[in-house]
Amino acid sequence: MDIDAIVIGAGIVGLAAARALAATGREVIVLERHAHIGQETSSRNSEVIHAGIYYPQGSLKAKLCVRGRDMLYAYCDTHHVEYQRLGKLIVATDDAQSENLSTIHQKAVNNGVDDIRYVEQAELQTLEPNLRAVRALLSPSTGIINSHELMLAYQSDLEKHGGVVAVGSPVVSGEVIDGGFRLSVGGDEPTMITCRELVNCAGLGAQDIAQSILGIPAKSIPTRYLSRGCYFTLAGKAPFSRLIYPMPNNEGLGVHLTLDLQGQARFGPDTQWVDDIDYTVDPDRAAAFYGAVRAYYPELRDGQLEPAYAGIRPKVAGPGEDAADFLIHTEKHHGVPGWVALYGIESPGLTASMAIADQLVSELT
Ligand SMILES: Cc1cc2nc3c(=O)[nH]c(=O)nc-3n(C[C@H](O)[C@H](O)[C@H](O)COP(=O)(O)OP(=O)(O)OC[C@H]3O[C@@H](n4cnc5c(N)ncnc54)[C@H](O)[C@@H]3O)c2cc1C
Repeated sequence: MDIDAIVIGAGIVGLAAARALAATGREVIVLERHAHIGQETSSRNSEVIHAGIYYPQGSLKAKLCVRGRDMLYAYCDTHHVEYQRLGKLIVATDDAQSENLSTIHQKAVNNGVDDIRYVEQAELQTLEPNLRAVRALLSPSTGIINSHELMLAYQSDLEKHGGVVAVGSPVVSGEVIDGGFRLSVGGDEPTMITCRELVNCAGLGAQDIAQSILGIPAKSIPTRYLSRGCYFTLAGKAPFSRLIYPMPNNEGLGVHLTLDLQGQARFGPDTQWVDDIDYTVDPDRAAAFYGAVRAYYPELRDGQLEPAYAGIRPKVAGPGEDAADFLIHTEKHHGVPGWVALYGIESPGLTASMAIADQLVSELT
């Protein structure tokens, strides 16, 4: 074999996986189709370090988020990745919502989020004077991060262990061969390469990759659904100093306010099922944002929301279905030794990236 391990995709999760594989002494190459790392979902998200509040108890999302969050904060401290542990408020705007806070609180505690606490109206007024809410939950361990710095740090660790990121290297097809895999790689210098282990971290392209590799059982490849999330920037100074989330609904976390490391406030992402990968932000979607945001921020003025950017969630459950867990498919799922495929790595994939990487390395060892 030419190399021990190939990781397809240089997003946050692919780079974390490659770094972890290289740290075990494997020779690792990351194949990335774009000219730069992190051009897809990893640069089109909220950059929030999630605490691990909402996910079903015992799910991979819950476990890997809580574990990954602690690993990430420690990693940022030692690797000079910029972050801020701002904290987040989940707000109830009426008495009915206030009663539902206890369900979220219990879920968080079950998941091991042990610092979450109730905040009553008087304290809320002091913490966030511009907020309209009757009660809230405060999650002090929620933060924001510079995701590009994080990817560069992962890449640098990988390279220190002798690994390589090959950009402009789209995987076109492949096959399972005796003891490993053979891949056909396109780009300016098309080539064939063989490896013992193959890790599919291609995000929105994960199903296409799996389908293009001869010998991967078709029934092991889940259907891909796309859910676009658009963001709108708030013109002017940010009215809050923490992240503000409404009560979650069936479709997700609701239109929430996040801040970036420069203090710029933005609202989103909303949810829209789409058929194609199209990152256009339709300015008309702002109408729904005004209504949703004014429930907890009545001071929002007409014209203050400006279209920003969109990301697309790589879903493995479609409209009307219950949210799915992360899928980390190893030999026990599909019977192909050395093949690990990640599907449905939506939020909290950034937060969980190091824990996902550890898990897949342990499955391969
Ligand atoms: C709207 C939105 C908001 C989010 N907010 C948060 C958040 O606040 N906190 C959080 O923890 N998570 C968040 N997430 C989730 C997080 O962004 C993702 O889980 C994470 O970025 C996934 O990283 P990845 O490496 O798996 O995928 P990607 O970043 O999509 O990387 C996949 C890579 O594979 C490459 N690729 C694809 N096909 C090929 C091919 N044939 N050959 C070579 N390369 C290929 C792509 O070019 C790409 O670079 C959010 C996601 C969305 C959509």
